[in-house]
Amino acid sequence: MKCDILICGGEVIDPSQHFRGVRDIAVVDGRIARVPESGETIEADCTLDARGLLVVPGLIDLHVHVYPHSPWGLVPDTLAAANGVTTFLDTGTAGSFSFDEFRRETIDRSRSRVLALVNLSCTGLLTGNLGELLDRRYADVEGVKRVIRQHPDVAIGVKIRASDFIIGKREDGWANLRDAIRAARESETWLMVHIGYCPMPIPELVRELAPGDCITHCFRGDSTPIIDADGRVFEAVIEAKERGVYFDVGHGMGSFCWEIAESCLAQGFEPTTISTDLHTWCINGPVWDMPTTMSKFLQLGMPLDEVIELTTLRPAEVLGRSNDLGTLREGTTADITLLEQCTGRFRLTDSLGTDRVSDTLLRAAATIRSGELLPGGGSLAGRHLADDE
Ligand SMILES: [Zn+2]
Repeated sequence: MKCDILICGGEVIDPSQHFRGVRDIAVVDGRIARVPESGETIEADCTLDARGLLVVPGLIDLHVHVYPHSPWGLVPDTLAAANGVTTFLDTGTAGSFSFDEFRRETIDRSRSRVLALVNLSCTGLLTGNLGELLDRRYADVEGVKRVIRQHPDVAIGVKIRASDFIIGKREDGWANLRDAIRAARESETWLMVHIGYCPMPIPELVRELAPGDCITHCFRGDSTPIIDADGRVFEAVIEAKERGVYFDVGHGMGSFCWEIAESCLAQGFEPTTISTDLHTWCINGPVWDMPTTMSKFLQLGMPLDEVIELTTLRPAEVLGRSNDLGTLREGTTADITLLEQCTGRFRLTDSLGTDRVSDTLLRAAATIRSGELLPGGGSLAGRHLADDE
């Protein structure tokens, strides 16, 4: 057998197959190939010695900003290897005015897979702080529908940031939210709603959402959290999750609070997906990267297999792509991440500046997207020798 990449001796964790154990993985023509039983020799163009490392499906970050022409936006290919992320979901950095350019200059030129939600505001996040929907004329339902019609392979849903200083207070806030919901329904996609300083109470907001819609910043602590004044997760939030509304972490600079996360997990309320909300103002802390965000959930007591599930299989399901992404099943796209579990003393800081000290930190060791080893980051490829080298 001849393969392009052979990953040897790593501990494979693939929640899509309920598998955890030492196994070799072969990549042929950008896909995951069957690894023959012992006896058959395997020739590989590139052999990665993964002993001591975790081998997991390529991580999917369900909340990032990777449209570099916005002040929020980072460059996806400079993030991919350091994050171990093979699929990024850009969450509304571009709107109907800018999406064609976002696609042409960034999405189509990236080695990382970039999918996107279209901001209800035609300007997207053109500025850092002016409130993209304070002027109701910017709410562009027809523009969102046009973008999704023209780019159905990458524009897969709608985004709104439901803060009162972004969408307006009271009736203006509701009008914008209802427009975002209508854009999602009429384009037959889904809506992601950012919460925090919401102009409407959280229970009233989540009741408007349908299965497949998503709340991001679910462990936000400073304003309009998903728990009530007595610290209980709102009944309406629990009901929404049971109906099939997704709850995404979206850490960011303002949206992950240790105490809220601890309280929710203690009450049995778990997020659907763990994501970073990486953008210009949180990449140098407190977020840093996806493996650091995952490490925070290890610190919270979440088992490793589940942390992997919430960053591979679950986001693939939210994207409607779990038949091919977020899995190491034979024949699927070869998106693979090698993670190193570092031990020591590590400071993990939430969005309110509160530290926890952890003895474990995950780090991306190598990242393969569609069978291509991505350059940069903590890649082992250049220095780690296989047995026969
Ligand atoms: Zn965001």
